[in-house]
Amino acid sequence: MHAGPAGYGELAEQLRAAVRSVGDWMAEYGEFTPHPSLDVAEDDLRRATGALHERLRENYPFFHPRYVGQMLKPPHPAAVIGYLTAMLINPNNHALDGGPATARMEKEVTAELAAMFGYPTHLGHLTSSGTIANLEALFVARQTHPGQAIAHSADAHYTHARMCHLLGVESVPVAAGADGTLDLQALEETLRGGRIGTVVATAGTTGLGAVDPVHEIIPLARRYGARVHVDAAYGGFFRLIADDSGDGVAAAPFAAIAGSDSVVIDPHKHGLQPYGCGAVIFRDPGVARHYLHDSPYTYFTSDELHLGEISLECSRAGAAAAALWLTLELLPLTADGLGAVLRPGRRAARAWAGLIEESEQLSLFQPPQLDILSYFPSCFPGRPRLSQIDAASARVLDGGMQRPSDQSLFVATYTVDGASLAARGHRVDADVASGRILRSVLMKPEIEERVPALHQQVLDLLADA
Ligand SMILES: *Cc1c(COP(=O)(O)O)cnc(C)c1O
Repeated sequence: MHAGPAGYGELAEQLRAAVRSVGDWMAEYGEFTPHPSLDVAEDDLRRATGALHERLRENYPFFHPRYVGQMLKPPHPAAVIGYLTAMLINPNNHALDGGPATARMEKEVTAELAAMFGYPTHLGHLTSSGTIANLEALFVARQTHPGQAIAHSADAHYTHARMCHLLGVESVPVAAGADGTLDLQALEETLRGGRIGTVVATAGTTGLGAVDPVHEIIPLARRYGARVHVDAAYGGFFRLIADDSGDGVAAAPFAAIAGSDSVVIDPHKHGLQPYGCGAVIFRDPGVARHYLHDSPYTYFTSDELHLGEISLECSRAGAAAAALWLTLELLPLTADGLGAVLRPGRRAARAWAGLIEESEQLSLFQPPQLDILSYFPSCFPGRPRLSQIDAASARVLDGGMQRPSDQSLFVATYTVDGASLAARGHRVDADVASGRILRSVLMKPEIEERVPALHQQVLDLLADA
């Protein structure tokens, strides 16, 4: 089965088979007549779906290698089949009473994710998103370290500070170093103050794909009695290719996640899943005690663990678990399985970074550690001013989107200031407080063979101005 529009004929076949199979299962319970209040006229249905199709055209082409903007792409067809098949039944993974089959699948995929990270024991579940998964990890951190603050990199995802606020916990941003990773010296100074109960390490920042040195953060945090949570929402699946090889990523920080207290990973980013599928995993199954609650109406058919007993959310789509389960049956969490989907993005990032370094028109903001590229137009008479870089970046962003579909280019931007440019050795006149540079997430394997063309297109858009 092929991914992308080329495989949509096959996908349609598989979906027909899914509808048949679920229909057969339903028929075993005997015929009944759906209530006429639910009937819709065929003409109305055609008109409304036609309008939907039209409205969806407003999207950017997330599926296409021409789209190198944000961390967006369609799910793998296997995930679509898994999701839609289970959705016809619509199980709710809050309780085994609501979704026995998909709750078991959720426990299985969670165990596979825990094994990928090397946790010897675990407790965890899927969530609607990385944000909710991090909220749960920080909630448990607050319960195990009451009254203490949570430290995270200044470059960590913005929701950490927001979730700390929500939890009534002080959040302490720690400076990031010149490569966008958490600065160990600054962290030690913060820890010395004595009020930090938990350190958040980010294995792949959302902005730059910078991987905090988890292997150094854990021993340092332990010396001060602090808990360590790893936010691997974006970068977690790179664990599969963390082998220090030419098209892999650094081994040490990813191997060290095994020694953390909790980890968050977003299957809806690099796990080929539709939104919303995040996951939170704790190494100590004993943290279940922090979730204790009573519910007179949800748990009754089984004494086995109901996922709602260890989750802050109540209703969750069983379909999300079915989607991930089916995907991992076909593309398992191995270097040759899902890992092979990630390597081309790494190669693309390295190759494009090389072209940028050789070019006179563009500069690399910093070398990519994962598959996120940050770069900026730097060819101006005299020393470049940040306001010029901002304007030229905006021209590439806007100009690329305004081209006809089959010649378009979609990049993203990233806001920097004079200090972050200077820290990376860029001699730029910071005539404005902040400005945009270019950012590209190369998360589709098809991008690799397009790199020279994509690079040329950025140069053409710059020359157009
Ligand atoms: C995407 C991301 C989040 C937030 O996850 P959502 O699924 O978008 O809610 C948190 N942390 C990191 C590092 C991320 O990349």
